[in-house]
Amino acid sequence: MKLESFWQATAPTFTGAATGDLPTHADVVVIGGGFTGISAALNLARSGLKVVVLEAEAVMSQASARNGGHCNTGVSQNFAALVASQGVELASRYYRAFASAVDYVQSLVSDEQIDCDFIRCGKIKLASKASHFAGLKATYEALRTHVDREVELVGADEVRSEVDSAAFHGGLIQKRGGQMHMGKFGIGLAQAAARSGAGIYEHTPVTRLTRVNGYQHRVGTDKGEILAEKVLMATGCSNTGPFDWFQRRIIPVGSFIVVTQPLPPAQLQALIPHNRTCVTSMNIGNYFRTTADHRLVFGGRARFAISSPTSDARSGKILQAGMSKIFPTLAESRIDYCWGGLVDMTADRLPHAGEHEGVFYSLGYSGHGTQMSVWMGRVMADLLAEKSAENPWQRESWPAVPGYFGKPWFLPVAGLWYKTLDRIS
Ligand SMILES: Cc1cc2nc3c(=O)[nH]c(=O)nc-3n(C[C@H](O)[C@H](O)[C@H](O)COP(=O)(O)OP(=O)(O)OC[C@H]3O[C@@H](n4cnc5c(N)ncnc54)[C@H](O)[C@@H]3O)c2cc1C
Repeated sequence: MKLESFWQATAPTFTGAATGDLPTHADVVVIGGGFTGISAALNLARSGLKVVVLEAEAVMSQASARNGGHCNTGVSQNFAALVASQGVELASRYYRAFASAVDYVQSLVSDEQIDCDFIRCGKIKLASKASHFAGLKATYEALRTHVDREVELVGADEVRSEVDSAAFHGGLIQKRGGQMHMGKFGIGLAQAAARSGAGIYEHTPVTRLTRVNGYQHRVGTDKGEILAEKVLMATGCSNTGPFDWFQRRIIPVGSFIVVTQPLPPAQLQALIPHNRTCVTSMNIGNYFRTTADHRLVFGGRARFAISSPTSDARSGKILQAGMSKIFPTLAESRIDYCWGGLVDMTADRLPHAGEHEGVFYSLGYSGHGTQMSVWMGRVMADLLAEKSAENPWQRESWPAVPGYFGKPWFLPVAGLWYKTLDRIS
């Protein structure tokens, strides 16, 4: 078993990195080379701006290449609950933003001819307990009434035609969801950005960021400084760099994934006949899907721990047991890949994007960011280039998480709380 991301291990090599000295000046410096930063760089370069991406490691090495591979429509939280907390109009606007985001990913795949196994087979949310079906039904009704006429509810008697497992009591299908090979997409996107003229500097962590002359920024790295007219923070849940204000608003939560050996295509086809992305209804639940080379990708929170090789291996064992419970016929299947990553959670589990003290940012996708980060790269590029002022995640304020200064001491307590909720629900 390899303790590395399947998406990274099987992606092409990025050949567009800038070499040589850093430039002394840029119109925009983008900090972070994941989906947000690279998508922004592509669009800024296309607008004719001099854009430099500074990435601490290699491009696409954190969440963007370490995720579950789902590229779904729909908000990260229950739509009916979102309507209750934010009102119909805002909840519907957020839902539509995710639909636009998936459309945008698809258009990039097609325009840039990125070979990344993109398909749109929809998503199913599975009721792990009979009592959870009522919640899915409420969401179904809210979605059908307000934003998505195509949504479909399947009862306990039909759900096995979607996922052939005795573990589920019904499901909610959102038909426009997609999936793709995240490594192939990410590297394809980075190649496109480099082709368009973005200077992408890998292994160049930003260690200092100061405002100068009232409006410019001095961006410091160990390889030199850049004077930037504008800066975009696209650092995911980075705990490195001089970004205290952001670190107090983003909680890094570990999530883990295993990938099986290639399976007989007919066996996999029988388990998930419509190739949907699948998510269970537990708070500490699982997400799974198939790959183009006939593997099962199976993820979940597994433990409230952060990712490291030992931690990933321990979580992998828990996930393998969970996978075998859902699909007993896979109990003996070999696990080829196992890894973990950090999800950038916010207190309201929604993204935040805007400007703080002259620094632009788009962060906090809360586990639902493979589509939104790519779309927000485009939105932020248009804001920075002053082409448009539209931003679906602009809010009046973004309060810090109370009692949180960058070390999430409360996660084990939260884990216990959610486990208890799952037991009694
Ligand atoms: C295990 C896991 C499973 C997930 N599954 C899904 C899923 O199935 N579907 C879905 O929609 N979303 C999923 N997500 C979330 C999704 O992957 C992210 O929301 C999205 O990739 C965020 O992209 P990003 O570019 O904002 O951040 P990242 O990809 O994390 O990129 C940020 C980059 O900034 C760099 N950086 C940080 N600090 C500095 C610094 N000081 N200087 C320079 N560079 C710096 C980092 O090295 C990193 O490369 C998952 C996330 C994880 C971790």
